[in-house]
Amino acid sequence: MTTTSPVGRQLRPRGKLLQEDARRHHRSLLLQQLFREGPASRADLARTSGLTRVTVSDLVGELVADGLVEELGAPAESRVGKPPMLVGLATDSTHVIGMDLSATDRMTGAVINLAGRVLARHELPLDGAVGDDAVALVHELAAALIAKTERPVLGIGVGSPGVVDADGTVIDAPNLAWTDTPLAASLAAAFELPVFVANDANTAVLGEHTFGASGDGGLMVLRVGTGVGAGLVLGGSLLHGHLGAAGEIGHVVVDPEGERCACSRTGCLETILAVPHLRRRLEDGSRSGESPATILGRVGEQLGVALAPVVGTLNLHELVLSGPQELLDGPLLEAADRSIRERTMPISSAGLVVRTSELGEDVVLVGAAVLVLSGQLGVS
Ligand SMILES: [Zn+2]
Repeated sequence: MTTTSPVGRQLRPRGKLLQEDARRHHRSLLLQQLFREGPASRADLARTSGLTRVTVSDLVGELVADGLVEELGAPAESRVGKPPMLVGLATDSTHVIGMDLSATDRMTGAVINLAGRVLARHELPLDGAVGDDAVALVHELAAALIAKTERPVLGIGVGSPGVVDADGTVIDAPNLAWTDTPLAASLAAAFELPVFVANDANTAVLGEHTFGASGDGGLMVLRVGTGVGAGLVLGGSLLHGHLGAAGEIGHVVVDPEGERCACSRTGCLETILAVPHLRRRLEDGSRSGESPATILGRVGEQLGVALAPVVGTLNLHELVLSGPQELLDGPLLEAADRSIRERTMPISSAGLVVRTSELGEDVVLVGAAVLVLSGQLGVS
């Protein structure tokens, strides 16, 4: 029996392109090893990558010529005989531009080296800019940051509010009045650099995963700002979800009797936890005589109710709250932690760590750099 319909789909292009893919993949293997484990000899790299020593020497030569890897000489402790010569990632050979568009009153950016260190900063007040004016402001910020480094720029990474597709088009960001705004394409055309744009919560979780104090056992970063959203890294991969909206927990209803939300539902998590709501509740409390600890503890309890099913389902290792430390780190975090443990099996929460980010507000900027490192060098 014959059929005219296709049997299956092609996986990858073949021939020459595949060879280039393999070379690129092998370069990434070596860069990833140097990025994660630090300096190594060519023999070490061959052993851990499974590539031949000839291939490794060839690739290292190419990476040195490209300025991404540098010769470090022999380690100080080497004994008699021919010591192994080490190579390492040249962390300041090339810089990355990272931008965070998630604040309501300003856009911030930084020049970041390949080790995730912030070298220079710049910010521009938003002054109510929306639509094309806001896009122009992003361009102005990028230009100012590029002018702050004398190194070649590997690429531009952007953490944007709203839903962002895989091409870096912002599908919907109400605060900036962006709808189907091709932000990555417009920056790439203006600066002739690779550009990567992602949602700010997804950017934050990448920053925490790569440069924070994170392990590899499943990480969720909950961003608490004007809105509330989460990013998840599971099994070493960013979770996108079916339509790219994974982590949109801010608009899950937690209190049907609660306040009206901007999304038109009632009692979304965002109406309880977002920073403007939290601050207003604390002001109301100071008038009615309710202590900040009581108010923040109650919000933490409600947050725990919302997160317990997520923790129970995914058996997360780490849950990181990212936002104003003075609001999140204290009674709110403690109550959320307790409430999650009360509502899940011991096996789900025994190894769970609930904490704030050591990277503080830089987590999105540094995560924006990870978008570029991962996209251009294959390291993260
Ligand atoms: Zn809502």
